Amino acid sequence: MPKQLDYHTIREIFTRFQTAEAEPKGELDHVNAYTLLVAVALSAQATDKGVNKATRDLFKIADTPQKMLDLGEEGLIAHIKTIGLYRNKAKNVMKMAKILVDDYDGEVPNSRAALQSLPGVGRKTANVVLNMWWRYPAQAVDTHIFRFGNRSGVAVGKDVVAVERAIEDNIPVNFQLHAHHWMILHGRYTCVSRKPKCNACLIRDLCHYEEKTP
Ligand code: SF4
Repeated sequence: MPKQLDYHTIREIFTRFQTAEAEPKGELDHVNAYTLLVAVALSAQATDKGVNKATRDLFKIADTPQKMLDLGEEGLIAHIKTIGLYRNKAKNVMKMAKILVDDYDGEVPNSRAALQSLPGVGRKTANVVLNMWWRYPAQAVDTHIFRFGNRSGVAVGKDVVAVERAIEDNIPVNFQLHAHHWMILHGRYTCVSRKPKCNACLIRDLCHYEEKTP
C-alpha cells in the first residue's frame, strides 16, 4: 500500500489544481437534477461521451420523471441502445421514474440514503449528484480517482470506500467541493491507466509514484 501524503504536500497539490482550473466541471450533459441523475446512472461502465450522445435527444423529450414514464421503456431503449447494459439500465430508469413520481412529487431527493434507495443508484451515483447538483462536498470514487489517489499518495485506500474516506480526511476543506472533478480529470487525462503522462504532470515533483514515466 502506498504512503498517504502529508498535509502540506496535499495542500500544495490542490493549490496547483485550483490555479490551473478554478471551477472544474463534470463532463456529463444534463439540464436539471433529474437528467443529471439519469445520466450518471447510465454512465456506469460507459464513457461520458457515449452517454452524452445518447441523451442529447432523449432529454429534449424526457427531462422529468413523468415525461420518462410517458415515453415508456421501449421508447427509452430506442435512445440508449448504444450504451452498455442498456436493457437493465432502461428497466431501472423506468422504475426510478415511477418512484420519483409516486413518492417524491417528481423531484429528486437530496440525501444520500434517499438517492441510494432508488433502483440502479449506488453510492457513487448518489455522491456525484450531491456534488454536482447540490454542491455538497461528496466524494464519488471511480476508477480514475482510485488509481490516481493510490498512485500519487493523495488518497490511499484498498477499496473505493477507503479512498472516499481518505479524501474526506486528508484534503483541506476549502478544496473538498471540487476535489472530485480535479481528481477525476487528472486521472482521466494525465494519470492514465497504462502509461501515466508524468512528464506533463503538474504535480510530478510531489507525487509518490515510484514508476513515473520519463
Ligand atoms: S507524476 Fe505520474 S503517477 Fe504521479 S500523478 Fe502525475 S501522472 Fe500520475
